[in-house]
Amino acid sequence: MSLMAGKRGLVFGIANDYSIAWAITEQLHKEGAELGFTHLPDRDPANPKMERRVRKLVDPIGAKMLVSCDVQQDADLDKTFALAKETFGEIDFVVHSIAYAPIDDLKGPVYGCSRDGFKTAMDISVFSLMAICKRAQALMPNGGSIITLSYLGGERVIPGYNVMGLCKAALESSVGYLAHELGQKKIRVNALSAGPIKTLSSSAVKDFDSMLNMYGAMAPLRRNVEVEEVGKTGLYLLSDMSTGVTGETLHVDSGYHVMGAPPADAKFS
Ligand code: NAP
Repeated sequence: MSLMAGKRGLVFGIANDYSIAWAITEQLHKEGAELGFTHLPDRDPANPKMERRVRKLVDPIGAKMLVSCDVQQDADLDKTFALAKETFGEIDFVVHSIAYAPIDDLKGPVYGCSRDGFKTAMDISVFSLMAICKRAQALMPNGGSIITLSYLGGERVIPGYNVMGLCKAALESSVGYLAHELGQKKIRVNALSAGPIKTLSSSAVKDFDSMLNMYGAMAPLRRNVEVEEVGKTGLYLLSDMSTGVTGETLHVDSGYHVMGAPPADAKFS
């Protein structure tokens, strides 16, 4: 019996086939989940680039819904969950794989971040999880599982990660509070803290390539994590394999987060 047979859910945050949300989707689909998706609204309705690039991926795997949703817009979130109710009735899981900071604010220093940039980054990268949980729980009368994506830069100082580190700290804190509030409804909320992976978003992080090299040299497994491994852990957290796990930040980073100093054999290129 497939792990996700009979389970229905929403995935927020597919930009292309490099997206972590896509890697999680592939695992969910393989295990029989019924899936709905969102994409960012298109500026030019005559040329719906955003919709096209997501549709190209999700149509072949039998997406039950695809709707435009900018998580900064309450009306978009309401529309998305109204369509999910119409499509699925009830849902069992949500993947929140969304983050953004304006590039000028992301490049640092943190003390130079603009007020507006900070608000935008926190709104899209943190508040959106709360806004999604509020709406998702109404469609989860029998419980469910919600995951978000985080990074070690929320727990420790990672030069170059800057304001996004502050966002991930707030995101991981919100996971604890949301897990507490939704636990009695049998809804679990967890964060998956992934090691560095080349995607559209990560290309905006300064010195990303040297971060990849450092992980390869320092992590206990002496290699970077594969996006497929992140996808499989996403599947674990969303499936009944993890029914006792909530409020957790689970690292999928080849063990990098446990290290306090480089191993003797570490060679940095
Ligand atoms: P990605 O493919 O670029 O995904 C980020 C997604 O966020 C995109 O689909 C983007 O949409 C969406 N998004 C941005 N603003 C939005 C808004 N206002 N409303 C709705 N969606 C919006 O990059 P990714 O690396 O897979 O990132 C996914 C998550 O993983 C993020 O939370 C990121 O911080 C986290 N993470 C990434 C890494 C890494 O190394 N890549 C490591 C740890 C954690 P558009 O592309 O259409 O703008």
